[in-house]
Amino acid sequence: MESLQTILHRIEHEDRPDPALLAQLLRIENREELDLIYARAYDVKRREVSALAYFRGLIEVSNVCAKDCLYCGIRRSGNVSRYTMSNDEVIACARFAYDNGYGSIVLQSGERRDPAFVELIEDMVREINDMTGDSLGITLSAGEQDSSTYRRWLEAGARRYLLRIETSNRELYARLHPADHDYDERLRCLRELKDIGYQVGTGVMIGLPFQTTEDLARDILFFRDIDVDMIGMGPYLYHHDTPLGREATPSIDAGGGLLDMSLMMIALSRIILKDVNIASTTALQALHSQGRELGLRAGANVVMPNLTPVRYRRDYLLYDSKPCVDEDAGKSRDCLARRIGAIGEKIGWNVAGDPLHALRRMNGLTPLRN
Ligand code: SAH
Ligand code: SF4
Repeated sequence: MESLQTILHRIEHEDRPDPALLAQLLRIENREELDLIYARAYDVKRREVSALAYFRGLIEVSNVCAKDCLYCGIRRSGNVSRYTMSNDEVIACARFAYDNGYGSIVLQSGERRDPAFVELIEDMVREINDMTGDSLGITLSAGEQDSSTYRRWLEAGARRYLLRIETSNRELYARLHPADHDYDERLRCLRELKDIGYQVGTGVMIGLPFQTTEDLARDILFFRDIDVDMIGMGPYLYHHDTPLGREATPSIDAGGGLLDMSLMMIALSRIILKDVNIASTTALQALHSQGRELGLRAGANVVMPNLTPVRYRRDYLLYDSKPCVDEDAGKSRDCLARRIGAIGEKIGWNVAGDPLHALRRMNGLTPLRN
């Protein structure tokens, strides 16, 4: 029987680890073994991308969404009051990020493909870049779009795009979305974003109903196979007013619990993909008051403090237990900086924190895969 250290060494150095072995690791419940894996991932992070934690200020620009994903609290059929922030409001949030040394921001929104929305995002990106002399990294997360839209937003100055595949199992994807939501369209978008020249991030929800550890193992290999630069993933959390929240209970075929399952996904992704950026997401904090710090200790290197004005936050509840709905941006910043300092991590102030993997990819250097 191989020791856990030997197995970890193997998956770190193999070209494409065996998904059955990864699934086996994802089922570990023993505390000592879990901690050993997190420590290993932390070492890989320090060695490959440094121990700095980067801040990405999250601005939830609009909760208007044309889609109806069965798990999401702001889905088209959801009963929430809809808002779209004005240009000035978004610029003010970006200004806060800039003045406070955040290296970058994420503009996130429900999905709309109409010309007015495309123009709105384009204008926001341009104005933010004008204000900061292009020195604040801008990431977009606004769903599936035509290639012409992705190009317009890139030309306006956005450099990164986040689009989660949600699950790489297409049958499971079909169970989580209405019939007109198309897995292949999602894949098309991810491929196109990369071809056009974005730094591309994807991710999945962990602990979805009907999801198995084999699915999660294959999700990590999916990240590797499509060669992403960034990963943002977190636990699936119940929203009471959604079809999935009403009809199904999460079913992870392991006893380790959702928190450790999520930390393991971060850790194994770090060990296998090495030089990508990995976010320790807000959803992780919903599971544990120190969820984000635990994520950093398990190999993540990005945190996403929320900059959305407090008056909009209650209308951007993707799931029920979302933390920090009443905390203003200034408070989030100090609180998070203190927490991160307390676990011995340093924050990468005033640097965009581009994923090393993307820089290597775009400069034609061999990325740090085996
Ligand atoms: N509309 C865009 C961006 C906003 S949604 C898009 O869908 O890409 C951002 C992410 O929130 C989604 O990718 C999904 O993974 C996550 N999300 C939605 N509902 C969730 C839930 N109930 N639990 C956990 N994450 C959820
Ligand atoms: Fe809309 Fe994104 Fe929610 Fe799907 S996950 S309903 S696209 S906001």
